[in-house]
Amino acid sequence: MLTTDVLIIGAGPSGLSTSYFLQIPKIVIIEKEDRAGGLMKTDYYEDSYFDKTGHLLHLRTDELRRIIENELNVPLRRIKRNSKIFSRDTFIEYPFQVNLYGLPKEVVATCLKNFIHAKIKKRKKRYKSFKDFIYGEFGEGIANEFLIPYNTKIWTLNPDDMSAGFCEKYIPVPDIDDVIDGALGIIKTDVGYNASFYYPERGGIESIIRGFLRRIHSEIIYKSYPVKINLKKRLVFLSNNTVYNYKYLVSTIPLNDFISLIEDAPVEIQNAGSRLSNTEICYFNVITKRILDNVPHWIYLPERDIPFYRVGSYSAFNRLLTRDEYETFYIEFSYRKGGFCDSGNLERRIPHLFKRLGFIKDDSDIISIRPFFIKCAYVIFDKHYQKSTSLIFDYLSKNRVYSIGRYGKWEYSSMQDAILYGKETALDIKKRIKIEKNK
Ligand SMILES: Cc1cc2nc3c(=O)[nH]c(=O)nc-3n(C[C@H](O)[C@H](O)[C@H](O)COP(=O)(O)OP(=O)(O)OC[C@H]3O[C@@H](n4cnc5c(N)ncnc54)[C@H](O)[C@@H]3O)c2cc1C
Repeated sequence: MLTTDVLIIGAGPSGLSTSYFLQIPKIVIIEKEDRAGGLMKTDYYEDSYFDKTGHLLHLRTDELRRIIENELNVPLRRIKRNSKIFSRDTFIEYPFQVNLYGLPKEVVATCLKNFIHAKIKKRKKRYKSFKDFIYGEFGEGIANEFLIPYNTKIWTLNPDDMSAGFCEKYIPVPDIDDVIDGALGIIKTDVGYNASFYYPERGGIESIIRGFLRRIHSEIIYKSYPVKINLKKRLVFLSNNTVYNYKYLVSTIPLNDFISLIEDAPVEIQNAGSRLSNTEICYFNVITKRILDNVPHWIYLPERDIPFYRVGSYSAFNRLLTRDEYETFYIEFSYRKGGFCDSGNLERRIPHLFKRLGFIKDDSDIISIRPFFIKCAYVIFDKHYQKSTSLIFDYLSKNRVYSIGRYGKWEYSSMQDAILYGKETALDIKKRIKIEKNK
């Protein structure tokens, strides 16, 4: 049996960050893939870099920028968001609710009147579902034109079956003045949590992962994964037939997968784990001839006849990601975990849609299309979410397990959060090690 002070499962940003901030000798990282980075990996082919769809740094504080630039040595550039919404075959600014100008007049009038009526009505103290929140705060017009169809596509379920809890942070609710200004064409593009973002100067988002790897001295065991975990005995059995005894366990893998590995988990915890649900994503990287001068960074696609929910352009984030004569795109389709995805049919629809969006003039302007899949993409905030996650986290904290990152915490969060969770976890482990030494 092998021993280690800290065993980290998953070499994505949260696992690597934990190791980076710990900097103690006995850390082992277990990674099922042959390369570190998780969703912060960048693929490279045809002289172009492709992240796992758009991966942009929305930094709320300066701390992380300093860490990335000064400690990891990865220069970043700040970019002002240029995102659009393609609605009624027109491009309007994002966010929809404060940029109605450009839509057909009757649509603008309905959205505006319904919004004002919703504002005048007394605000509910607690919304019973996501749909209830949308209708209650925005009114029927904005709900039916954008918020309901877009969110149904991305989350793959009816917003009526989703809890309202998570949305207030991510969906800005404007006041009446802003909505009226937006309907009259007084543009407001700097609303919301991602009005500008940072992106590496070179090499795609994975350059940050390479920065971590240059500064980490832990052992990373690639192409291996846990097959069984015993929390009471502090044992992790690996697919390569080794067994680790750990003092501290950090998991960054999807929470439902992690729970299913714990052989001594009580039945109610196993059941709570199996109720956690998520979306999968099929996305396509598309290379086209360069035709437009100013391609938006990303475009939301609420229209019901378009199966994809969003399309974005890597080369619009940074021209150095591809050749001068190319434009590179990603286009995303979401479906429920374990569901069927007809990627061939989706792929066939891309040329027509790209013509409709003005990205190409002719089918022959497309140079290549390649499909990719993300097996755990968005955690679903359904009606089981709250109860299942509180049961599980209560159990894990009693057993001294840190489950962190977007999928470890089972939430909607970012790369920044993943890296900062790693730091927080490392500081906590260091504190405990110190206390134990002094006993
Ligand atoms: C479509 C999409 C777009 C996104 N866009 C953005 C964005 O623009 N900006 C932003 O900040 N965030 C974005 N995110 C979120 C971001 O990707 C995550 O917050 C971040 O990757 C979480 O890092 P992590 O290390 O916790 O998890 P991950 O990146 O998922 O890493 C987990 C690691 O664990 C490994 N692993 C999994 N299972 C096992 C196992 N059983 N055994 C061993 N290893 C295992 C994986 O291979 C992986 O290396 C996006 C996410 C998605 C899905």
